[in-house]
Amino acid sequence: MKANVNEDTCIGCGLCADTCPEVFVMENSIAKVKVPEVPPEYGDCCREAADECPVEAISID
Ligand code: SF4
Repeated sequence: MKANVNEDTCIGCGLCADTCPEVFVMENSIAKVKVPEVPPEYGDCCREAADECPVEAISID
């Protein structure tokens, strides 16, 4: 499983990094994905972060 942040859409609210800090980190007011592959144990929080993103900037493959 991979997560991606659309940097053009992200508004830098920080919600994903709060919800799933193992996968997302804020850098210059944009969320970045910290890991090339989301570890299985963080899959749920990663999906939760994607669901909660107010602008749907997070996609999961
Ligand atoms: S929740 Fe969405 S808009 Fe907010 S920082 Fe994360 S990717 Fe950006």
